[in-house]
Amino acid sequence: MDHQRQGAYLRAMGIVPWRLASSPAQTSPTDHDKLAAAAGPVNDPVDVSGVSPDIPEPASLQQAPANDVAGMDWHALDQTVAGCTRCALSQGRTQTVFGVGDRQARLMVIGEAPGAEEDRRGEPFVGRAGGLLDNMLLAMGQPRGQVFIANIVKCRPPGNRDPVGEEAAACAPYLNRQIELVAPEVILAVGRIAAQRLLETDEAVGRLRGRMHELSLPGGERRVPLVVTYHPAYLLRTPEHKARAWEDLKLAMSVLGGAV
Ligand code: SF4
Repeated sequence: MDHQRQGAYLRAMGIVPWRLASSPAQTSPTDHDKLAAAAGPVNDPVDVSGVSPDIPEPASLQQAPANDVAGMDWHALDQTVAGCTRCALSQGRTQTVFGVGDRQARLMVIGEAPGAEEDRRGEPFVGRAGGLLDNMLLAMGQPRGQVFIANIVKCRPPGNRDPVGEEAAACAPYLNRQIELVAPEVILAVGRIAAQRLLETDEAVGRLRGRMHELSLPGGERRVPLVVTYHPAYLLRTPEHKARAWEDLKLAMSVLGGAV
């Protein structure tokens, strides 16, 4: 992506870049400082230049209680999710929100749960937060249609509350299978719930972001690099953290080999 277009998408995110570095490895503290300054005061910036291959021990996804899901193709998985009553969230949904995008995407975005608008439309990340996510993806050179986007749970929790552990566990086999089928090169976990469920931790997003994690799929045969960042809904409320989010996106882009 040329820097002019990327700059336009960054401005749409609310970040005004003064000058974009040519690659993650060449991102200098000066560039970072300019981005950070443009987006407002940011404490404790994370330098992602020269991302280290020093990746910690992988987290493992919750083990699938339903072995029948493993091995399903996309059609069977889609049909199974559409009729699922495995947890109580099925009772309040308008429809399941399976996930959208390129089923052979290099980048997979995982959020927490459908909200009211997603429940109505059957698509994840719509509305204002979805618009910001789209701009974040465009700034990465990854248009929404080229990314696969899914959630930890496929049904809307009542009142937009966080999904509880039992609900996430019940839905985990579907997400596990989606990750296996997409086989992304990198996963972007957006928001606290997605990060904590995928990495099986209760650490805050602020401590999980800014570094590379690794996700081990059930069976342990495949490991996927994973980057944590803030949920776009949070960034709409806390725009001063957009510069940090951009650092996270650059970290994910470094896996894809994209120019920044
Ligand atoms: S949230 Fe997942 S496990 Fe629960 S009913 Fe919906 S599809 Fe099934």
